[in-house]
Amino acid sequence: MKKIIVSALLAAATFCGFSLEADGLKNLSGQPPKGGRFVTPTDLVWPANAGQGDVCLWKDDKFAALAITIDDNCKPDHEWWLKICDELGIKVTWFVITDRVGKVNVNFNGTWADWQKLADAGHSIQSHSTDHKSDKKDGSYKMTEEEIAAQYSDSLAVINENVTNNFACTIAYPNGVAHPEIAARYAIGARGVYGVPSAANNINYMCTNKGAASQAFIDAILYGKSEHEPKWMQNRPNLKRGLNIILYHLVHWGRTPEQIEQSVANVEAEVRNIAKYKDVIWIARFDDLMKYGQERDTAKLVVDPISKPGEMSFKLTCDMDTKIFDYPLTIKLCLGKGATQVKATQGDKSVPARIVEHDGKAYAIVDALPNGVPVKVSYK
Ligand SMILES: [Zn+2]
Repeated sequence: MKKIIVSALLAAATFCGFSLEADGLKNLSGQPPKGGRFVTPTDLVWPANAGQGDVCLWKDDKFAALAITIDDNCKPDHEWWLKICDELGIKVTWFVITDRVGKVNVNFNGTWADWQKLADAGHSIQSHSTDHKSDKKDGSYKMTEEEIAAQYSDSLAVINENVTNNFACTIAYPNGVAHPEIAARYAIGARGVYGVPSAANNINYMCTNKGAASQAFIDAILYGKSEHEPKWMQNRPNLKRGLNIILYHLVHWGRTPEQIEQSVANVEAEVRNIAKYKDVIWIARFDDLMKYGQERDTAKLVVDPISKPGEMSFKLTCDMDTKIFDYPLTIKLCLGKGATQVKATQGDKSVPARIVEHDGKAYAIVDALPNGVPVKVSYK
């Protein structure tokens, strides 16, 4: 079955610019299997014995994950987002309608220089299609497959031609009208609009859910329950440790100065509240989340038997094409008792590694690419 998926994607790759020598999956398209791709751990995982390891559910062994995404260009908000994200140490993802950049109402849609500035600040510039057109819900307008394919592929290509320091590889569907099977030819992930966080083991990568910034949605991914409104979000045990993707449009919005001020104040309060959780929630760019999730869902970790005290090694692979899927996974290794220092290398490169303690044992937290290049960990 897996072989068939690979060849179908490679066939699609011939006309979308993905490399033909590709040696892995471009995305996990389609609905996850019933019950999810794995059993989500309800708490952080602590392998019991020295020499055992685990692929962390989220980067840096965070408990849950969240992305802030912004649609429809919204140039009047650019400086505001740059400033508050800089202050709070978070990055956001912009889904850009590319035909409008530098052409239509530039004060609202910005120029490529504006998007470069955001990319240079570490924010992610992704596609919200070329022109934001979609099928009309009343059936009065229906796009052809060619038109939809062009909307997705051309918008990604034009971002990658015009913005450096950034890789456009994900889409937010215009008007929430999703064509995941078409998007899967060009993108590694796409945001849909179904309004609930995603369970970690059950992410539909080519049409993710969308959550919200309010406390009940934050509580859902942290505790699986909440005392806050809305009621239908108050008892969601399967969302514990899940992924909450938040969508904003224009923040400086309103007919009067008072309305605009209120709108900005509301969003600012939400964003400041979210940032308070940054030690436990991975606040990430959408493209990084899509990479991490699909690498993790298909990862294989093989820790070698310990042959020398103070040294461990492992190999990490995944089913994804690691030329695109180049985001490190976080690996947790049990080192046993007493270690206080750790160093790690993957191939000839040193990679981030640190020690955490739990229950009297030392654990190494190591970032490694899932590309099969062996990782050596030394500790004392
Ligand atoms: Zn939109």
